[in-house]
Amino acid sequence: MKYNVKFSCGHEEVVELFGKYADRESKIDYYQNYGVCSACYREQKAIEYSIGCEERTMSYREYKTNYAECKTKPESYDGINKTIVVYVPKGKNKDHHIYVACKETGDRITEVSTIEEGLAVIKEYEKSDKAEDIYTEGFYDLIDENRISVL
Ligand SMILES: [Zn+2]
Repeated sequence: MKYNVKFSCGHEEVVELFGKYADRESKIDYYQNYGVCSACYREQKAIEYSIGCEERTMSYREYKTNYAECKTKPESYDGINKTIVVYVPKGKNKDHHIYVACKETGDRITEVSTIEEGLAVIKEYEKSDKAEDIYTEGFYDLIDENRISVL
């Protein structure tokens, strides 16, 4: 049986319900008070998935090869270009470049593959800076190719 339900988000949507009358009624009641329509649901999920992640458009093949464990943006698959928007956790960017850099000037010193590795490299640098008595707190930074700090 099809019902036109007004969800708690304020949007109306047709839902199809089966089963006993009382069960259908209680479901409708739930939708009206707590449920959100499918568009709002997708939006909520997108927000949930995007926390701590960045949206990256990539080929579906790349997604399947390197990012299969990541969530994808609902309905972001582009059938013509075969691309999809993937929520890539920050700092887990496999094809993303990370550099140890001088914080003040942004000059790249060396490239590392992960934030963890970068932090270890910075630790080493700071150790030798201390040994040479040229240590400055917060001198080093980890940046991406757009010179944005990833720390
Ligand atoms: Zn809605």
